[in-house]
Amino acid sequence: LPDPRLEVPQAADIAALLPEPGGEADKYRRGVLGMAAGSQRYRGAAVLAVGGALRGGVGMVRYAGHRDAVAEVLHHWPEAVASELDPVDPLSSLPGRVAAWVIGPGRGLHPMAVLELEAVLDTTLPVLIDADALTLVGRSPDLVRARTAPTLLTPHSGEMSRLLRGTDRADIEANRLEHAVRAAEEYGCTVLLKGSTTVIAEPGRPAVANPTGTPLLATAGSGDVLAGLTGALLSGGLAPREAAMCGAYIHGLAARLAYDGAPISASALLPAVPEAIGTVLAAR
Ligand code: AMP
Ligand code: MG
Repeated sequence: LPDPRLEVPQAADIAALLPEPGGEADKYRRGVLGMAAGSQRYRGAAVLAVGGALRGGVGMVRYAGHRDAVAEVLHHWPEAVASELDPVDPLSSLPGRVAAWVIGPGRGLHPMAVLELEAVLDTTLPVLIDADALTLVGRSPDLVRARTAPTLLTPHSGEMSRLLRGTDRADIEANRLEHAVRAAEEYGCTVLLKGSTTVIAEPGRPAVANPTGTPLLATAGSGDVLAGLTGALLSGGLAPREAAMCGAYIHGLAARLAYDGAPISASALLPAVPEAIGTVLAAR
């Protein structure tokens, strides 16, 4: 019997949710995404997250980060609008005029990252919080609890363990749905728990299990692509639960489409994302 606590979306359900640009579309209406990912040390996280957003159909990405990460982003994605953060006063140079934010992948845990996270969460914009920013949220849960704007947390089980103050990782793995629901209630927002079966929980709504996941995704950088892709959907106007459903579905499908019998790396997901979106839209 199907579990009534759990929805398992099919391609047609995802197709019905995906925003399709109309004739009146322009890059601003399609969605401008602010991206605070990557650092001097982790430049690849920035490249993968920006790529996930661009391949996911965003109108524009406004990237801000360390000078070296900016150079790397622009080398791979000339279409990104990228600017260097003032190292002394990073908040003064965070991009404005964005419809949503992705924050955290490869960003670090240093004091500047804390200030930046506080500034982004202080807006009334939708925010996707991933990776290092999740660790910071685990230390200061009120940063998220105090928000009324749409908020999406995208932990893997290790990050979830920190969000739930040390809950055993094996316990999270064994009871994924229960822990996602608990975290969503504790933080008062949407939670996408990544892993063998990705589940999405939001207070007051049925939980979702993503059917397209594959262990092909279990490779470094794959989560950064998901963050960018899902952020693109948030900036396009989807609510966090629906952006998470669509992002996870397309991400898994992209891995399956990229697979030709040999292992794939996270970069290989990127060209497969538009193909996955096309496959989904064909189910309309
Ligand atoms: P991250 O750990 O942030 O790089 O994210 C890893 C990505 O790979 C997430 O989208 C996970 O859901 C996915 N993933 C990791 N392991 C598995 C697995 N065994 N089966 C399916 N998806 C996985
Ligand atoms: Mg990650």
